[in-house]
Amino acid sequence: MSDCLFCKIIAGEIPSKIVYQDDRILAFEDINPQAPTHILLIPRTHYASLNEVPEKESDLIGHLLLSARRIAAERGMGERGFRIVLNTGPDAGQDVFHIHFHLLGGRAMTWPPG
Ligand code: AMP
Ligand code: ZN
Repeated sequence: MSDCLFCKIIAGEIPSKIVYQDDRILAFEDINPQAPTHILLIPRTHYASLNEVPEKESDLIGHLLLSARRIAAERGMGERGFRIVLNTGPDAGQDVFHIHFHLLGGRAMTWPPG
């Protein structure tokens, strides 16, 4: 997807602060952090949102989720807690249409979300 912001980050065409990467996923700092820790985790394969992810990629989604958990634990947030967010579509406020998990932590959060 040549016009996708996060595909450009994967390609290295747009700079990012990468915190983890492997052959399937990339994790990098959010440019506009909403908490002391705010990391985005994305698959290298372009899917616009969760709505576009096929059943056969369930392991990829699990890998993103457990990688977020591991990063949270490495940053000492395992016990205190953290939040993982997957905005999907306009009602959820999704702005970038390359699926991404938000990993947020380092402060107490409220519920329900806005
Ligand atoms: P969403 O509203 O769920 O689509 O979230 C998109 C997120 O991408 C927001 O939290 C933005 O701050 C973040 N973002 C936008 N551009 C960049 C960028 N160049 N590098 C890192 N994060 C970005
Ligand atoms: Zn993309």
